[in-house]
Formats: sequence, C-alpha cells, structure tokens
Amino acid sequence: MEKYLNQLNSAQLEPTIQIDGPMIVIAGAGSGKTRVLTYRIAYMMSKGIDPFNILSLTFTNKAAREMKERIAAIVGASEAKNLWMGTFHSVFAKILRIEADKLGYPSNFTIYDTQDSDRLIASIIKEMNLDKDVYKYKQVRSRISSYKNSLITVRAYFQNPELKEADAMARRPKMGEIYKAYVDRCFKAGAMDFDDLLLKTNELLTRFPDVLMKYQNRFRYILVDEYQDTNHSQYLIVRALSDKFQNICVVGDDAQSIYAFRGANINNILNFQKDYDDVKVFRLEQNYRSTKNIVNAANSIIDKNQTKLEKIVWTANEEGAKIKVNRSLTDGDEGRYVASTIFETKMEAHVPNSDFAVLYRTNAQSRAIEDALRKRDIKYRIYGGLSFYQRKEIKDVLSYLRLIINPADEEALKRVINFPPRGIGQTTLDKLIVTANGYDRTIFEVIKNLDKIDIKINSGTKNKLENFATLIESYQVMNQTADVFELAEHVTKSSGLIREFNKDGTPEGVARMENIEELLNGMKDFVEGQREIADATGSLAEFLEDVALATDLDNDKGDTDHVALMTIHLAKGLEFPYVFIVGLEEDLFPSAMSMNTRSELEEERRLFYVALTRAEKQAYLTYALSRYRWGKLIDAEPSRFIEEIDEQYLDIVTPIEERRYNPMLDANIFGDVEPNQKASPNRIRFKPAKTLERKKGAPKSEPEKFQVSAPKNLKPVSKTSNGAANLFDSKLAVGNIVKHIRFGKGEVLKIEGQGADTKAEIRFETGGSKKLLLRFAKLEVI
Ligand code: ATP
Ligand code: MG
Repeated sequence: MEKYLNQLNSAQLEPTIQIDGPMIVIAGAGSGKTRVLTYRIAYMMSKGIDPFNILSLTFTNKAAREMKERIAAIVGASEAKNLWMGTFHSVFAKILRIEADKLGYPSNFTIYDTQDSDRLIASIIKEMNLDKDVYKYKQVRSRISSYKNSLITVRAYFQNPELKEADAMARRPKMGEIYKAYVDRCFKAGAMDFDDLLLKTNELLTRFPDVLMKYQNRFRYILVDEYQDTNHSQYLIVRALSDKFQNICVVGDDAQSIYAFRGANINNILNFQKDYDDVKVFRLEQNYRSTKNIVNAANSIIDKNQTKLEKIVWTANEEGAKIKVNRSLTDGDEGRYVASTIFETKMEAHVPNSDFAVLYRTNAQSRAIEDALRKRDIKYRIYGGLSFYQRKEIKDVLSYLRLIINPADEEALKRVINFPPRGIGQTTLDKLIVTANGYDRTIFEVIKNLDKIDIKINSGTKNKLENFATLIESYQVMNQTADVFELAEHVTKSSGLIREFNKDGTPEGVARMENIEELLNGMKDFVEGQREIADATGSLAEFLEDVALATDLDNDKGDTDHVALMTIHLAKGLEFPYVFIVGLEEDLFPSAMSMNTRSELEEERRLFYVALTRAEKQAYLTYALSRYRWGKLIDAEPSRFIEEIDEQYLDIVTPIEERRYNPMLDANIFGDVEPNQKASPNRIRFKPAKTLERKKGAPKSEPEKFQVSAPKNLKPVSKTSNGAANLFDSKLAVGNIVKHIRFGKGEVLKIEGQGADTKAEIRFETGGSKKLLLRFAKLEVI
C-alpha cells in the first residue's frame, strides 16, 4: 500500500480509499476530516483517476492552496496542477466566465464586491426617492442576498405575494422594486455580485441540460469540506453536478455549523443520507489536534446543545495544561493580559508569534488587543478587516483596470470619472445616470455618444467627458500587448493617481503610496506566478478575478511571523498552539442579538465550540468587567459559556489582587475595595458598578479620565488580607518609601486632603505616579 497512507488511522483510512459512490464523514473537530479529503485525492490520483475529473470545494482559497501543496508533495506538482480546487465562489466564477454568453453576460463580467453592491443599492434608493432611514442599504443588501441564496429571482419574487407582504409588513413595500432595479443595473453593467456567482451557476445548470451534462462528465468526483456550512444555493449546485455519477464525498461537523445567519443550512448535513441512495457514513472519533483538557472541555460545552448528532471525540494526546480563565477590569486590561502572556510564553517556550491566535466575536474588539500588542512590540496581523483590495487607493487603481476590461462597469466608472479631479461634477454624473437609464444604455456608451443623444451638457464638460473616454480607450489598446504590471504602472502614472496621492505629503498619503507600490509588486508576482499554472494566461481579467474573490486569509504570504487576530467565524478549520478567546461576556459572546431563540443560542454555543477546538496546547478564556462599546463604558458579566465548561478543566488565573473587584484601580482614584461576596471565579454573577461613565470629550484610550463612583455592594476594607495597615489615619509623610500590593515600591511625592479624603501622590518604581485615596490604599511604609 502507498506509504503516505500510514499517516492515517484505520478509521480515517476507510473513507480515504472508498472512492465510488456517495459518502459522508461526520466527525468532531480536529479528527482529520480535512486530512482525509487531502489524502483521498492523492489516493484517487495514484489509482489513475485524472485530476481533471476531480472537483474539490473548500471553505477558503487558502485551505485549497494548502491542500494542493500537500497533494503535490505526494503525487508531484505537475499532476496536482490540474485539480479543480477552491471555494464555491472561485470555482464557479471560472465556469461562469466560460459559459457567460449563454446567460447574456460578457465573459469579462465584473465581480462586484460588497462595497460595490452597497454603493449601487444606496444610489438606487436615492434615485427612487425612498427614505434611507427606512431602507438602510446594508439591510436591503442582506435581504437581496437572502433571496438570491434561496433562489428567489426577481420574477419569483413578484409571483409570490407572500414575499411582498412580508416586506410590506417590515415597512419596506418597495423591496421588490429595489431588487429588480439592482438586478437590472448589475446586468447592464456586466456585473455579478457574490451571490450571483452561485445563483447564475444554478440557472446555468438548470436551463442548459447540455452544459449540466458537460460539467457532470467533467467533475466525476466531487469532494466538499465544511459541508455543514453550505447554503441552499451551494447545496443545489453540488446535487446537480453529482447527480449523474454520484461520486460525492462530503465531510463536516454539525457541531461546527456557524453560518446560519448567512443562510447556511445545517439540514444539508442531516439530510444527506436521504438525498442519495446507499450513502456510506463514516465517523472519526480520535482528535489529533488538542490536549485531553481541551477536547474534554469542548465536549462538555457542546453537550449543552439539544440539536446535535451524537458524536464521540477523544484524544490520545497528553493531558495538557488546564484552560486558563482570566478576568480583567477593563477591555484595556484584557488586551494587556493577552500581550503580556504572549510575551512571557514566547520567552519561556521559545515559540514564534505565529503560534498564537486571538479570537473574538466581533471585529471591533481587536482595537484594545492591537494597542496592547503594539506597546509590547509584538507583531500581529488582523484578518478579515477591510481587505487590502478594498482600501480606497487600491480600489481606485482597480477601478481603472476594471473599466479597461469592462467599460460597462458602472460602479468602477462612478469611482474614477472624477478622480483625480477633472472637473466632472456630481450634477453631470447624475445627468449621465438618468440618461443611461432612459436609453437603457451604459454610462460609458452615453459618454461616447453625447452628440447623438438628448442630454444637456455644456461643451466644456463634454470635452472633459470625451477626454476621459479616450483615456480609458488608450488603456484598452495598451492592454492588448502589455502585461498586468506594465499596464497598471502606466495607468497609475498617466491617470494622475500617483500625483494626487503624492500631493498631500501627509502620513496617510505616504501610506497610500506604499499600498499602491505593494499592489504593483503583487502584480509582478502574479505575472510571474501565472506562467506556472497550466490554463492561466496571466491576463488582466484573471488578475481582477483573483482580486475580487481574495479574502484576507488568501493574501497571507506566510513570510512574516505574526500573532493572528481574527473573528471566530474566520478561524474555522484552522489550528494554533496557543489560542486566546477574548471578550467572553454576556451580550457580547453570546451576542445580545442571538439570544432570542434556543436555536440562535445554540449557534453561539457552536461558535464557542469552534473557537475552543482551534487550540492545540493551551487555551485562554478572558473577559472584562467593563468594556467600551458604542463609545461608552459599560458593565459586563462573564459569559455563560465559561460556566458551562466542567470546572475540572479550568484554571482560574486572575491574580489575587485583581480578584477583588475594584473599578477605582482603573480610574486612578486608587484604593482598595472588596466585593461583599467572594465569588467563585467560575460562578461569578455579581453586577459591578453601574456608574462608570465617560467624561465628555475624553479620548477612549485613557480610562484615567473617567469619573467613577464606588459600587454600592462594595465595602471599604480597613485591614487588608496581606496584613498591610490602612493608612488613612496614620502618619504618612512626603519622602516616605511605601509598598503597595499591586504597584510595588514607591516614594510619596505629595499629600493632600483631610480625614477620609486624604490622598497621597506616589511615584512607583514600576512606572508613573498615581494618586491614592489612603482610606482604601493598601500601603505599607518601609
Ligand atoms: P476541523 O473540524 O477543525 O476542520 P478536521 O477534522 O478537519 O478539523 P484536520 O485539520 O484534518 O481535522 O486534522 C487536525 C490535526 O490533526 C491536523 O494538524 C492534522 O494534520 C492532524 N492529524 C489528523 N490525522 C492525523 C493522524 N492520523 N496522525 C497524525 N496527525 C493527524
Ligand atoms: Mg477541517
């Protein structure tokens, strides 16, 4: 037998060498599902199956790339090249390009990203004179997205009065009209949005039986990773393509289904056995990723869900350290805890930054973590924020390039027609849009025919418009001979973009220039890299497609050693030796918006399960007692998920002095107060002060500037636990050297106030001076 198969256990081996027929592998996190898919493809190829006949769908393009590399290492790079591998979106975008004319699209159609969709929807709402507070463009976009993913076309929408009624009930009776206008405008612009890539593929496969047959014959073997998160549209594509040969292998874990909010349907995995005849079901039980502590803790969590397939997950790995639970006073403290723990672990264990991941529920949480990591000089990278290709200056350059390929692209045109400024104002643009809609032509066509049509534009502006069209056409000519890099370099210079960004000389301007340089470097890489790919031509169209579908994870060149910061949703399928799950607080995680029904709460719990199971060696759970949200300091309670973990797997690391709740420590009226109840950190349920409020105008990063008042349930202590005397009525003099339980040694600089209000200003060796209220401070004169 092939040697590489030794790297599988017997339960993994069975599905790996089972090639024909429908099959499903249902197994918990870290049990080797992705490994089975990878080795299975290598095995199929070694048995003589043509890589051209294998289609493998993954959750990220990065996952596809890694799989391909692994397979290449086993079967050889030249063979692996021909595999079709990637996300649903990237694979079907390629097929749509080939078949575009059947659907009335140009093969060089543009892919609109969410930003483009948002802009177009906002513009339609404005053109239709609708109230933008009722018709919020993001909500409208997500509604349109859910229609598309449920295969509700515009026609189907208008044929179904219930849909219209539902939208009217939601106070948006014009939803259908916006949907129609949006679809028409995208079509006219030769553009598909992300959801179209799936919807149009479905349309293609249903309307054209010959096309369906062609791809059924081509993709005789289909494999899908993370099957639990496929939506209806994706499900139908897989069904249609696999219908003829039924060689379909899907792997997934119902306990990791976390995209219901985007239309993923957990029933796809639950019903798989009903969809095909003679489905072989495989289960894997041994986890290879994590320690016993982590595996058992994760099991104890997911056990709380009622809707689940019963599964066993165990590991032969070592017991490992317990999961560390840390409580901080503020989100700033939480960030500092994360940063210092990473710092210390790196020192002790001699491990690189890339061994660490910080996972959070919402992107906004990254700021406090970033601040702390920066202060410690720890390199990090945020995934899933604004992708590089969505930055303003990059989108400006790309918009020129998109226009070269597809001058009908309305969003690209609107972006650059007057950038850099060339005297074409909003009024002119509005006229162009109205005229284009009236004639059912594109804006570019209108500009090209200003003399032949009825439009009121003065001759000066006409000239400017014609010059713009000529500029784009000159680029189109160049595109016939130059490569992507040469073309882009020429465009950035001759369009005036470089001059425009160079002009201001501000740090932002410099950063923008650097980004453009980075984009050009990327293009050079692309031109060189494409030479190695079998069916690639290195064309501008191909580059733009890669860019349109690139996510942050994909841009990771793997050449830098950084701590990874990302949302839990993005971390699916990944693994790291050390994982911090931060912000474990009620209303944040579980999210306040997902606690209305049991099924929502269960999805949050699955999300927590995904987070915890990313960790190989050590997991950290952290929460803060107060946190800035929406610009306000608010109180927080520890997440129920911490309580749900069996206590035996936890190690509560909150330092002794911090375990006494003390908002003052953070607010610079330093003193010590003690909660009236000693909470078991695993069962903490007390509500801290309600009165922490931001002073008007105080910057977020300086909690010192906030007014606080002591919470009612906290009593001052007169004798501290370590025996240090309370000094409020004893004699303390300027120049005394004192010791504070939290800040260490310091010198008294000043004493002010009287009686219970006596404060001392002390400069501590650990840095900075602080004012302490002697009534509360645990000071010892030494
Ligand atoms: P997830 O549910 O998180 O996607 P998964 O089931 O896909 O997890 P993999 O990522 O395939 O699991 O495997 C988890 C880890 O265990 C990987 O590092 C993988 O290389 C390793 N692994 C899997 N099977 C074996 C094995 N038989 N021997 C050694 N290591 C293994
Ligand atoms: Mg996996």
